[in-house]
Amino acid sequence: MREEMAELGRSIFDRGLTAGSSGNISARLEDGWLLTPTNACLGRLDPSRISKLAWDGHVVSGDAPSKEAPLHLAMYQERAVAGAVVHLHSTYSAAVSCLANLPAESCLPPLTAYFVMRIGKLPLVPYHRPGDPRLGDAIRLLAARHGAVLLANHGPVVSAASLEAAVYAIEELEETAKLFLLLQGREACPLNEEQIRELVEVFQLEI
Ligand code: ZN
Repeated sequence: MREEMAELGRSIFDRGLTAGSSGNISARLEDGWLLTPTNACLGRLDPSRISKLAWDGHVVSGDAPSKEAPLHLAMYQERAVAGAVVHLHSTYSAAVSCLANLPAESCLPPLTAYFVMRIGKLPLVPYHRPGDPRLGDAIRLLAARHGAVLLANHGPVVSAASLEAAVYAIEELEETAKLFLLLQGREACPLNEEQIRELVEVFQLEI
């Protein structure tokens, strides 16, 4: 799992999906969870130094964990199905998170089938400063019903059953945010209710 985190982290960083030392990745283990260290660049993770944490929050081994640990912990505690969580400051999603008057229920419309399949709805988490425990509390309120949320003026947090699925989902979110911004000022035609219902039935989605 450590190797996989380093490999996917490098892929995320090399493609410009997060910059500098921003972004963090975590994965559930049988006896705790792994989280990328504080101030670590996702492009240059050392697998042996990735932080291992117990469920009470104490560090078992590795470097000091990301200070965004509460975002991840809230997802795991509220979603038994979450096997991994990815949080990025990806440009287009972060840009959307800075827009005024976002619908709180879902920041992005259902523009494509894959957005509906991998993300569904994307509720907005109100702004709190990094490290503020209220950020984790705000995610906790939404996480039971949503595997993905957008932090206002910050970026997305996405969970999925596996690390690979969480990375694919956050990439789909970023592409949809890009489409959404490209379409500003034009009349877009999102999927309608019937088209979404068909996806929910055929792919047994929980949205
Ligand atoms: Zn962040």
